[in-house]
Formats: sequence, C-alpha cells, structure tokens
Amino acid sequence: MCIFCMIAEGQIPSRKIYEDDLCLAFLDLSQANIGHTLVVPKKHYDNMIDLDNDVAAHLFKVVSKLTKGISKALDINNFNILNNCGEIAGQTVNHFHIHIIPRIENDNIKIELSSNKLTDMEFDNLRDKLYNTINN
Ligand code: AMP
Ligand code: ZN
Repeated sequence: MCIFCMIAEGQIPSRKIYEDDLCLAFLDLSQANIGHTLVVPKKHYDNMIDLDNDVAAHLFKVVSKLTKGISKALDINNFNILNNCGEIAGQTVNHFHIHIIPRIENDNIKIELSSNKLTDMEFDNLRDKLYNTINN
C-alpha cells in the first residue's frame, strides 16, 4: 500500500487539517513554506491521468476552500497551487495530490516556466490536434 493510502487509512500519522468522505488534507512534511498543504483523494489514483473527473471536481472545490482557510489563518494572500504529474514532472509519491503552497515576498521558492517560441503554423497544428482529440 502506498504512503498516502496508509495516511488515508490512519495507519501512519499525519497533521490533518481537513477531511471528508472523499479526501483529506494534511501538512506536507517538508514545508516549502509555512502552511504547505497536500490535498489527496482517499482512493488511490496514481496521478492526474488516472484520476476520476468527478473526484477531480470535488478535490478542486476543497483546494479552493482550504486556500481561503489558510489565507485567513496565516494572513497570506499569495499561493502556488500545483500538481506534479509523473516522474519527469517531479512526482515522487505516486498517489495523486495537489500542493497548496503559501508564498511570501522574497521566500526564494523557484517555480519557473521556460518559454518555447512556436510559429503560427505550429500553434495552429497543435491547437487542432488537442481540440480534435479532446472534443471527439
Ligand atoms: P511530489 O513531489 O509532488 O510527489 O510531492 C510529494 C510530497 O509529499 C513532498 O512534498 C513530500 O514532502 C511529501 N510527503 C512525503 N511523505 C509524506 C508524509 N508522510 N507526510 C506528509 N508529507 C509527505
Ligand atoms: Zn495510494
């Protein structure tokens, strides 16, 4: 059984800040910043590709509620909400989870996106491929 399944089942401890029928949220052991929280479904899904869409909808609602709660409790108004999907993307625990990471000025956390320049044709082809796969 994976480590987050064990946390969900209470077999190993966590610092829980929220729980309902479908999910729970607890403090990340390595606090990237004070208040760094993980939101996880109780049922095991490896990652976003695997995740049930209805569970995803519920989890995002909970993320929204918790972000507001953390904001109020810690008086923080800046956050990164992120999910690492797959090993290359930095996923280390293979049980889907969403990070809520409070941000404060000069906190030195680096979340940087590099930029690829596409031609108009490359953009159009990419858009068509995605649109057709998603909508057909
Ligand atoms: P990721 O790299 O997106 O898979 O994130 C996994 C996160 O899980 C890391 O930030 C770890 O610090 C965190 N983590 C791993 N084990 C535990 C645990 N037992 N309790 C709380 N957080 C954990
Ligand atoms: Zn699991």
